[in-house]
Parts: sequence; C-alpha cells; structure tokens
Amino acid sequence: MSESRDIFMDQQSKCKEWFFDFLVKQQRTVAAIFSGKDYRVIFLTENAEKILGVPRESICDDIRVLLRMGIKINKTDAPALEKIAKLPVGQTIEAEILEAINQETGEIMYFRGSINHSPQSGGDWYLLIWIDITDEVKRNQQMEDMIAVAKAANDAKTSFLANMSHDFRTPMNAITNFNLLIAKNSDNPQKVRDYTHKIGLSCQNLLSLLNDVLDMSKIESGKTDINSEEFALGLLLEEVNSVVAFQAKSKQLDYRMYSTGMQQDTFIGDKKRINEVLVNILGNAVKYTPEGGKVTFSIEEEKVGNGNLWELRFSVKDNGIGMSKEFQEKIFEAFTREEKEETTGIQGTGLGMAITKSLVEMMGGTISVESEEGVGSNFIITLRLPGVRQESGDFWKNHNLNRVLVIDDDMKECKNVEVALHDTGLEVFFCTSGYKAIKLIEAGDDDGRGFDIIIIGMMIRSLSCFEIAEYVNKKKLKHKPKMILLTDDWEEIASDAREAGIFDFIQNPFFLSTFMQLMEDIVGRTSLGNSDERRSILKGMRFLAAEDNDINADILSELMGMEGALVVRASNGQEAVEMFEKAEPGYYDMILMDIQMPLLNGYQATKAIRKLNKDGATEIPIIAMTANAYADDVQRALDSGMNAHVSKPIDMKLVEATIASLKENNQST
Ligand code: ADP
Repeated sequence: MSESRDIFMDQQSKCKEWFFDFLVKQQRTVAAIFSGKDYRVIFLTENAEKILGVPRESICDDIRVLLRMGIKINKTDAPALEKIAKLPVGQTIEAEILEAINQETGEIMYFRGSINHSPQSGGDWYLLIWIDITDEVKRNQQMEDMIAVAKAANDAKTSFLANMSHDFRTPMNAITNFNLLIAKNSDNPQKVRDYTHKIGLSCQNLLSLLNDVLDMSKIESGKTDINSEEFALGLLLEEVNSVVAFQAKSKQLDYRMYSTGMQQDTFIGDKKRINEVLVNILGNAVKYTPEGGKVTFSIEEEKVGNGNLWELRFSVKDNGIGMSKEFQEKIFEAFTREEKEETTGIQGTGLGMAITKSLVEMMGGTISVESEEGVGSNFIITLRLPGVRQESGDFWKNHNLNRVLVIDDDMKECKNVEVALHDTGLEVFFCTSGYKAIKLIEAGDDDGRGFDIIIIGMMIRSLSCFEIAEYVNKKKLKHKPKMILLTDDWEEIASDAREAGIFDFIQNPFFLSTFMQLMEDIVGRTSLGNSDERRSILKGMRFLAAEDNDINADILSELMGMEGALVVRASNGQEAVEMFEKAEPGYYDMILMDIQMPLLNGYQATKAIRKLNKDGATEIPIIAMTANAYADDVQRALDSGMNAHVSKPIDMKLVEATIASLKENNQST
C-alpha cells in the first residue's frame, strides 16, 4: 500500500515538474529561488542564460546581477533591495513592466516581474519570477504609435480644412465682390479694367491653391508620374523667371539669376515638375522676403563621370525672415507653416514644400535648406539628369548667322556666352572695352567680314551699352549687325534702348536655347514683317466644341470668336458625334472635346468619331479641353484617339499654340 502511495507521489511530483517545465518554456518565464541572506541562488530555470544573455553561474552566484538588469518601465529602478528585505513573509511585490537588455544580443526585452517572500526555510527564501512579455509590449507600442500617427494626420487634416476653407474663401470673396463692383461701375472703363485685373489675380491664386491640393493628394496616393522628355534648361529658366521676376518686382525686391559656364543646355527630365519645384522655392523666397530685400537664384552644372550625366545645382538665397532651427526640421512635412509675427497675414497652405520635396525625390534629386531667423534662407536643389547633344544642324546657316561679337565689362559674362556657343560653329569674338569693340566692328565691316549679331552686356568700360548701340546704328556699315542687349530686366529701359539702336533683348544668364529661340523669332518677325501674324492663326477656322456646361461653352465661344474663329457647340458627346457625321466633309477644322459629359463622354465620343465611315473622321484633329489635368488624363485622351490636350481653365495662348502645331503637323503630312 505504502509502496503504491510512494509510486503515486513520485508520479505526481514528476507531473508537477513536467507541468512546471512546460509553463516555464511556454511562457518564456525565468524563475529563481534565492536566499535573502547572501543573495545566492538555490534554484534557477534552465532558460535564464538564453533569455537574458547572462552566464548562468553569475546569476547563481548573486541574484542581484539579474535584479540590476531589470529597469522599471517608468525608469525608476527595479525593486530596491531594502524593499525586498522588508517584504513580510508570504507577500509579493510586483512590477507591471520591467525593461531589460539581453547582454549578448542587445535586444530590449520586457518582463512582468514578481518577488514572493516564501514562508519556507525559515523565511530566508524568495521566489523571483520574470515572465517575458516582449511581444505583447511591442505590439502595444506599435498600436500606440499607429494611433499617434493617425491622430497627427487627423489633426493636420482638420487644421488643413480650416486653413483651406479660409484660403479658398479669400480669393472667392474678392472675385464675388469685384464682380459686383464691375456691375455697379460698368460705365467707368478704368475701374472695370482695374477690377478685372484683380479678379484675374484672385483666379490665379485659386488655381494654384487647387493645384497644390490635387498635387498633394496625388503624391500621397502614389499616383504621380515623372516624365522623361528632352527639354532646354535655358527656356525652362526663362519661363520660371518670367513668373518670379514679376512677383519680385511688385515687392521691389532685388531679384537676380546667375549661372556660370553652362555648356550643356538640353537635358532629359520632367520639365513641368522642375518648373513647379523652382517656382515653389523662388515664390517662397519672394513671399517671405520683406520689400526691398534680395533674392538670388544661381544655377550651376557639372558633369558626372565619363558618360553624359550632369548634376544641376539650383540655389535660391534670400535675405528675408528666415526660419527657426526647430521649424527647419519639419519644413518639408505637409500642412506645416511657421506661425510667428512675420508670417501673419502671409497666405499659404503649408503644402508647397512637402510637394516640392516629394517631386525632387521622385526625380532622384536632393533638397536642403539652411536658414537663420531674421537673416534669410538658402534652399539648394540638386538633380542628376542625362544631357543631350543639342543638334543645331543648319540652323545658323539657314538664318545667315556666322559671326558674333560679345561686348561686356565682365570677362566672365563674355566667357559664358562663348561656352554656350562653343559647339555651334559660329565665330565668337569678345571684347571688354567699348572703344575696342567699335574698332573691331569697323575693321570687320571693312574686311567684308562684318558681325551678324552683337551681344551687349549692360556694364561696359569707357562707353555705355547705349552709346555703343547709337554709334553702330548711325555708322554707315556695309553689313549692319543686329544688336541684342543681355540683361536681367528690360521693361523699364526697353524704349530708350530701342531708340539707341538695340534690336532686341535676351535674358541674362545666356543660354543657347534662349538665343536660338530669339534668333528664330527675329528672323520670323523680319520676314513676316508683322509680329501679329501668329495671333490670327484662328481667324476663319471652324470648330466643333463638345461642352455640356453652358458657361464654359459661352466662354469658349467668346474667346475663340475674339480671335476670328467660329465655334459650333454640341452639348454632349453623343450630339458631337451626330453633328460631325451630318456636317459637310471638311466643314469643321478641328474638334474641341470636353471629357465629362452626359450620354457619351469625351473619350467615347472620340472613339465613335474615329470609327465613322466618313471623310476626315480619322484625320480631323481632336483636342481634349478638360479639367482632368493629370499626365495620365493626357495619356488617356491620346489613347482614345485625340491629338492633343489642353487643361481648363483655358489659357488662350496655349490653345493657339496647340492649334498652330496641329495645323503645322497636318500641313506637313
Ligand atoms: P506656404 O503655402 O505656407 O508658403 P510652404 O510649404 O511653401 O507653404 O512653406 C512652408 C513654410 O515654410 C511657410 O509657411 C514658411 O513658414 C516657411 N518658409 C518656406 N520658405 C521660406 C523662406 N524662403 N523664408 C522663410 N520661411 C519660409
């Protein structure tokens, strides 16, 4: 009987052991029994060494090794030794979360800890249990982080909506009220002109706001595409400059653009996005620099490696209000603006910089900022783009251009022009003094090798640029050169300069592309004898316009009518198809196609027209004219069979240019 009882006891103790081992393993629990007198460990679970990365012997020698490792999560120490010593027999102290670092792997671990003062062995023994809850704590931390991110996004969106509402209402308010004022002052043309000008500015403001919001949502949903197309940097900078110079001027800022030794002018990249980035940065420099301040825009380029990769470096420096160090840390986060005295009253959404950074990074570039409050800011953008050899072919020969003289006080400016023209085959001479330049011009003319073009800088030693121009103009030369003034801004000096004999102006810094465009323009102008010729491109043309919105249809008809074109309207896609089918072949020159319309949308209507068995159905140019303005909308329009895309609100210059190029293509095929 006692033998079977012994067996039973033995089995029960084995079961207990097995159960204990199982629990310890399953829960990754470290358990130890230690003496309260000398802290020596009487029992320690096998897993302690692995879980904590501490040799078993050192824990066994002194349990304090382990106690010192566990830091309470609220950063107070693990249970103090005297607290353990004072713990009444039978009671337990607990720590909700202990943080410990595995001494071998460096991994941060979390434990739920407890120490129980055991009544066994005369009250000398303590039982320590550490249950590994690392996974649970990490999961909770992740959840908390996610909640914090969601909350921050939510707060940002709430404040964004509040800002948006305000920012949209401001120009809307101006438009509504100036509209009322126009109605009241319709007999005062001066006032009407003034109000319409102000409405125009508010419209631009509204449009850029809308574009920012759309851009941001596109970027956030990962739907932004970066295009790769050939573009001329000089022409791009000219566009950027025309926007920024105007803004800078209205704030009386000293705005300048510099570049040195630009040998490469044609690149492959996303021209529209680069333009957007530069206008954003420059626009801010103007916005956050008080009147009378200075904004400098410098461009440098450098070849990378032996291939044809170039690094472009744009720097936009201002001496405006600057930014605090703390704000610089978050300037590129969406919806952030620095709230301080100097920024009150300056409109903005805090989206521009976030969009800019995303675009720069999508193009593989970098953007950084250095700024000091009250001193100014410097934004630096770098982009790496493949260069393309600009083939000017017979351009110079066709335009009868062989010899160019550059006159500028500053040798660097002369060199810039020389570098830009070095691959063209033109003979380029330069001269830093006015008298020498005149001698050179006369000598060349006497030899029958007169200059075709003279590029004059604003600063010249001994004679002013106007004096040189006047002299050359009055002198009876066999071959009269065309004099081009290289300058930052010619608006105010244009009429005096023309009177002195300056033929035209070119933006400083000098780029091959802008020079070629100017030459093309000059030759076109001289041969046509009338620069208004392009403007009448729409004259006599007949358009079928599919547009479901009455106001848009009226605007389109008015704008096109002012240029001498006739617009016949269809109020939906289906009607457009029917009207085209019924018309005499060739009656319509082109079709202007809205996209979102009832019955058939613009894509469907285009496909239906292209399928018609009718003369001209496959050839007639169809232009998408739509508020769907993204790159994939353009692609969708082209895929459906349209020939071009113009986004709304309509920019007549762009419409004319698009029509002109379609007309040209049609004639050449
Ligand atoms: P916003 O529409 O407010 O101009 P941005 O995203 O373009 O939005 O700029 C974010 C903020 O960065 C601005 O509100 C302004 O506080 C600060 N900032 C940007 N550029 C400059 C600058 N050149 N000088 C001083 N502060 C600037």
